[in-house]
Order: sequence, then structure tokens, then C-alpha cells
Amino acid sequence: MNSGTLFIVATPIGNLDDFSTRGRNVLTAVSVIAAEDTRVTRKLLSTFGIKTPLLSLHEYNETGRSAELLSRLQKGEDIALVSDAGTPLISDPGFELVRACHQNGLSVTPVPGPSALIAALCIAGLPTDRFVFEGFLPNRQAARKTRLQQLNMEPRTLVFYESVHRLAESLQDMADCLGADRQVVLARELTKLYETVTADSLSNLAIQVATDANARKGEAVVIVAGNSEPRTTLHDLDTVLLPLLTDLPLKQAVKLAAAISGQPKNAVYARALELQKA
Ligand code: SAM
Repeated sequence: MNSGTLFIVATPIGNLDDFSTRGRNVLTAVSVIAAEDTRVTRKLLSTFGIKTPLLSLHEYNETGRSAELLSRLQKGEDIALVSDAGTPLISDPGFELVRACHQNGLSVTPVPGPSALIAALCIAGLPTDRFVFEGFLPNRQAARKTRLQQLNMEPRTLVFYESVHRLAESLQDMADCLGADRQVVLARELTKLYETVTADSLSNLAIQVATDANARKGEAVVIVAGNSEPRTTLHDLDTVLLPLLTDLPLKQAVKLAAAISGQPKNAVYARALELQKA
């Protein structure tokens, strides 16, 4: 018996006209749609008159559900995976299922379409030839700042998904860790009625978002310019830091390495912790 195919189907991130004809046809034709939140997807499907049965696949049931879907694919059923909005697996569930398909020789096919990541990046006016997708930063401020400090020297454009609840806090942390003057673009409510795109320095944007409740509404992607003038690359910093760490206490090694390399102390400290762990 021929096995079925898993289709990874992108859905709109706001504007329903962005739903591709192929995406709708595939969702109509498959025997079941695995959805992150069946209530959200049912609403979308009913708008387009699609009556395919749904089942849930979210981060808490992905392991069990993947096994069940795998067995249905092996029996020859075609299945689609969607998330609440945008492209599945991009900061959304599905990785385990796709990996299991590869491990079991089952075919996986993309039905590409909207993703907030690419939508935001292509209107940011920042270099796009290379970029780093960081997804969501950690919730806890200490962990968030550590991650940002590790990114301080990254020369590529940085893309973050953000939750509106902590947008102001995160922008302030970015200004503290990446530099107040660093260029940033806030892309909110893309493809929706109140789409807004704001380009400014990190410190200005942090103040604007903290003081204007409207600027904190809806969904947002934050795109930050890469470090254009890292005085020392990570590799060079390691050359300075490693021998110092071998012979000196952490604090002293960090202080000297920061002075020699010209890198901010907190970035050197974060790198020293990484090297110690490794
Ligand atoms: N997989 C989705 C994709 O491909 O776009 C992303 C899912 S992730 C859980 C949700 C995050 O995407 C939001 O917190 C926000 O950062 C971003 N996002 C989704 N829709 C957006 C929109 N219309 N405008 C701006 N950001 C959006």
C-alpha cells in the first residue's frame, strides 16, 4: 500500500486574501488537518467552506499525536498540518512530527505562504542577505538579558518575535544590551487593519512603546540591525579570553579581556560563561 503525504500548510497572518489557492485545495483534499488550536482553525476553514475534520497538535500533545498521525500516514492517508497563523514550525509546533516522517521514510511537502518572520524582514529596510531568527526571547529578564548580551556582537540582522505583554520591557533590555543607538524596526499587525511599521533607534523606540499604549497593541516582530562595527570578532575574543580564563579568576579574566578587546564587559562575561561551560 502507498503511504500518504504530510502537507505543511501556511495560513494567513491577518489578511485572508493571503491564503493561497493551493493551501485551500490541499486542506479540502486531505483526510484530516492537524491544527495547533482547532477552534482558531475551524473559524478559518468555515470562512472558506472547508469541512475537513480537525484534530489538535500542540506543544503538550505533540509526541503522542505524532505517533498517531504517523500510523495514519503509513496506512495511506494524506494529512495537513497548520498552525494558528502563518507557517507551521516557525516558533510553532510540528518539528517532532516532521522529523518522525523523515525517520520513517514518509514524504513531507510544503505549501508555502505567509510568515510574520519574512513579512517583517522584507519591509524593515535592514540587510536581508544574511539574518538571524531568534524567535521569542526568554520570559525571565535575567535570561533575556544574557541572551541579548550573547548577541551583542552579531553582525547579521536580528529578528525577534515578541509578545505584546512585554514589548516595552524587551525593547529596553535590547537598548541596554545591544546599544541605545542601534537601529530597530517594529512591525506590528502586519497585513491587518492597523498595520504599523516604525523605524528608530532602540532607545527612542523603547521610550515610545513604554509611553504609548497603542504602540503595544496587537502582534509584533522586532528587527534589529546587526553590529556593524564589532571591534573584535567572537573568534578573536576567544583568543584573548581563553588563556586568561585558564590562569585567572573569572572576574579578572573578563575585566582584562574587555579592556584588551574593546568589547562591552557584559558581552565578554556572557562569552566567558559559555566557554567555561564548554
Ligand atoms: N508561525 C507563525 C509565522 O510563521 O508567522 C508565527 C507564530 S508565533 C507563535 C506568533 C508570533 O508571530 C507573534 O507573537 C508575533 O511576534 C508574530 N506575528 C504573527 N502574526 C503577526 C502579524 N500579523 N504582525 C506582526 N507579527 C506577527
